[in-house]
Amino acid sequence: MFLIIMGPPGSGKGTQAKILARDLQIPHISSGDIFRQAMETNDEIGNKLQKAINKGQLVPDEITNEIVARRLMKDDCKKGFILDGYPRTIAQADALEMLLVDLGYKLDKVINLDVDANIIISRLSQRLLCKNCGASFNLKTNPPKSEGACDYCKSSLSVREDDNDKTVVDRISVYEEKTKPLINYYKNKDLLCNIKGDVDVTKATKAIMTCLER
Ligand code: ADP
Ligand code: ZN
Repeated sequence: MFLIIMGPPGSGKGTQAKILARDLQIPHISSGDIFRQAMETNDEIGNKLQKAINKGQLVPDEITNEIVARRLMKDDCKKGFILDGYPRTIAQADALEMLLVDLGYKLDKVINLDVDANIIISRLSQRLLCKNCGASFNLKTNPPKSEGACDYCKSSLSVREDDNDKTVVDRISVYEEKTKPLINYYKNKDLLCNIKGDVDVTKATKAIMTCLER
């Protein structure tokens, strides 16, 4: 299956994408994860990424499109994929559409996780991330089984640098302005699965699965 999962920051798309990737046996491709890895190297691109991400701004479309295209051209994407965090602008969605035509792939569904802004803010302030495998946890709603350690790889968990209150507000307004219009973009293409995201993790997964089976 060829899928996109979208939603505001903190809507749980990374968590759901990981579950779907495992259940459907397709790669989980997260632009945020790719960027966070690339940020670790202190070269020119790494520094550009760091600047944008830590301010809550988007990475420029040209860089983003290029990085994602390189990933989607790999062989493991032939059986499908779940894209998480990309596209985030109309220009990215148009670029993706052309790339998919070139590769001979067709999108099956676009999952939109619908969550209210005030829930997002409280979720992000409780979020913990595993830098090793990319899993995220939430102190209140989805805590790790043992304190401070990743359930999957046992690495220690940390707070994401861009999950501070100030950056979160900026990320939400960037979402409203640049990414939200994609909901209608994909609705018009008859691809949208709109899912209530302010429910527990298993409930949201079930709702997604039901929509994918349609
Ligand atoms: P979240 O959805 O929780 O905010 P992500 O891990 O998806 O977090 O993304 C973190 C940051 O990486 C974003 O705030 C943005 O700066 C950058 N980023 C990720 N994906 C994209 C994209 N498709 N286009 C531009 N910037 C992106
Ligand atoms: Zn981990």
